[in-house]
Parts: sequence; structure tokens; C-alpha cells
Amino acid sequence: MLDATPQPRSVLITGGNRGIGRAIAEEFVRSGDKVAITSRSGEDGPEGTLVLAADITDGSTLDAAIKAAEEAHGPIEILVANAGITDDQLLLRMSDESFESVVDTNLTGTFRTVKRVIKSMIRKKKGRIVLISSVVGLYGSPGQVNYSASKSGLIGMARSITRELGSRGITANVVAPGYIATDMTAALPEELQQKYLAAIPAARFADPGEVARVVAFLAGDDAAYISGAVIPVDGGLGMGH
Ligand code: NDP
Repeated sequence: MLDATPQPRSVLITGGNRGIGRAIAEEFVRSGDKVAITSRSGEDGPEGTLVLAADITDGSTLDAAIKAAEEAHGPIEILVANAGITDDQLLLRMSDESFESVVDTNLTGTFRTVKRVIKSMIRKKKGRIVLISSVVGLYGSPGQVNYSASKSGLIGMARSITRELGSRGITANVVAPGYIATDMTAALPEELQQKYLAAIPAARFADPGEVARVVAFLAGDDAAYISGAVIPVDGGLGMGH
């Protein structure tokens, strides 16, 4: 008789201690996978996860976290590069440091993480990479020149990985959330939140679990032929972009 029980997979999620990353981690734990999450503090991961400290702007902390994850769970088979920051300011007032630090976290930090897990994916001829971008990566957003540039950069990254490594059983996709209720969006002024709400065809903000379930699908066998795609989870906000 065939064993229909799926094998637990080794999953790494950056920024899995809160918000969207936490919901993604919970989703993989529910599927029975072996889940490692990172945060800067190395604290507060969801139950059933291996919680590791790593700052994605610092390659040496990432090296240590990935080594620990692989020792515990085996080579990373699924990477969800979720960690990200905002530092909003109108262009005229945006400092070089603000631009650089947002790009260094959201874009270069994702590169640092992908680069550190890709070798074992190539060796195994199997891997799933999901990059968490944003609707504003394609739509644009006033006050977010740094953030929007970093998030659209992820699309070029996923598509280049797809062209470079698609024949090795590796997929790389982008999930572009719209407005999801997390610490990041709670920090926005009430007036701005109402403005966003009015622009969303679904007329509501989303729960982080709604992003998590799309990520889980892209990481599964049923999505083996989807790569280089940008999947919006935005209630229709970015349609046509
Ligand atoms: P939160 O602010 O709630 O969480 C951000 C996560 O990223 C935290 O786990 C944080 O860890 C981690 N992080 C930030 N900087 C670093 C760093 N240098 N090194 C390691 N980890 C870091 O954000 P959300 O859950 O809302 O967002 C998650 C992702 O989704 C981000 O990439 C964001 O841009 C994207 N997104 C969010 C949207 C939303 O509406 N919320 C919409 C579109 C995209 P720590 O606790 O250590 O700070």
C-alpha cells in the first residue's frame, strides 16, 4: 500500500515571530512541516517552531541561523523571505540613510538569505522560494520611494532565479500583499488607514492568514509549474499593475 502521509519539509521563514511571517509559520506547522523562523531577537516564535536569532542585514548572523536550522531539520527545502521594514517619508525629505537601510533590509537582506539556502536546493534539484513583496512594488505609493523600490526589486530577483534555476526543480515566486492587519499597518495614521480602505475593492483589510495560505499553496506540489509569478493578495487594490 502506498504511504499517503506527506513527508515533513524543512522550512525557513524570516521574520516569523509576528505579523504575516508568524501566520505563515503557523500554517506550515499545521501541515506537519519542520519550521524554523528567525527574528532579530530570536524570541517569540509560534508553538512548534525552532526560533532563531538573525538580522538579515548581517550575513554572519544569517550563517549561524541557517546552520542551526539545517542541523535540526535538514537542508532548507522551502524559504519564505518575509522579513521587511518601512521607513516612510516624502522623497524631498527622505535621507540617503533611510533609502539605504530599507533597501538593505528588504532587498539585499532577501538576497543574503536566498544565497545561503540555494546551494542545497540545487544539490537536491528541488526547492521553493517565496518572496514577500507588496502591492506597492508595482502600484507605487507616495512616501514609500524606498520601500516600493525594494519591493519591486524582489520581482526581478524571483524572475532571474526562475530563469537561472528553473530547470533544477526550483521555483521562485512573489506574493504581493495589499493591506494586511499587522504591527506594520497599525502604525499608520487612522486617516491614512481610512483612505486605503476606501481604495480597496474588497472593502476590508486582510488577516495575515489569508497571505499565509497562498504562500503554503505556492510551496506545495500543486504549484510545481508556477514560477516567476507575482501573486497579489490585495482584495483587488493593485489590479492591472
Ligand atoms: P511586521 O512589522 O509585523 O513584522 C516584520 C517582521 O520582519 C518581524 O518579524 C521583524 O522581526 C522582521 N524584521 C524586520 N527587520 C529585520 C531584520 N533586519 N532582520 C531580521 N528580521 C527583520 O510586518 P508585517 O508582518 O506586516 O510584514 C511582513 C512582510 O510583509 C514585510 O516584508 C512587509 O513589507 C510585507 N508586507 C506587509 C503588508 C501589510 O499590510 N502588513 C503589505 C504588503 C507587504 P523583529 O521582530 O525582530 O523586528
